[in-house]
Amino acid sequence: MPEDRKGLILVYTGPGKGKTTAALGTAFRAVGQGLRVVMIQFIKGSWHYGELDAAEALGKDRLEVLPMGRGFVKIGAEKPEPEDVRKVQEAWALSCEKISSGNYDLVILDEINYAISYKMLDPEPVAEALRRKPDSVHVILTGRNAHPSLIELADLVTEMREVKHPYQKGILAQRGIDY
Ligand code: ATP
Ligand code: MG
Repeated sequence: MPEDRKGLILVYTGPGKGKTTAALGTAFRAVGQGLRVVMIQFIKGSWHYGELDAAEALGKDRLEVLPMGRGFVKIGAEKPEPEDVRKVQEAWALSCEKISSGNYDLVILDEINYAISYKMLDPEPVAEALRRKPDSVHVILTGRNAHPSLIELADLVTEMREVKHPYQKGILAQRGIDY
């Protein structure tokens, strides 16, 4: 049965918390609708994220989460480490493969915006790949400082604004909420 489906480009950006978790919420909804989802994590955090085990529980034919980073990236350094750049390039190559594979309905590029704004990845090939993506595939891009060219291309852009964060009171990251 031909489906009247339009693959969307969605961007979750901004300084407030909720970008990756918004993508995961969408993934949860999509899985419920029988969509096949993959999340490629460009910058893996130093903690073991709950979503890895949740995805495992759902089964990787439904939701696959692929951490591709080195564990952390030095923030505030003048230039990114070559090893981090290499990892990001690898994550990008894998992303292109996943988007065009026909095996996924939703592809989440987690922290790709950060990788671009930190100059580990050029925005132009990303924009080009999104222009050429299969028409039915949804793509979500997360991370602060989304590049203007990607915002331009996107169908949906949500900017998370920080109103309050427990961090301001000195409360550390909470298991199940932050990781
Ligand atoms: P989450 O994964 O919780 O949805 P995020 O993707 O919006 O967060 P990132 O920039 O990826 O935010 O940051 C990841 C980690 O930093 C998370 O543990 C998150 O709680 C924390 N964080 C996000 N925003 C802030 C903030 N404004 N102040 C302090 N910590 C934050
Ligand atoms: Mg995030």
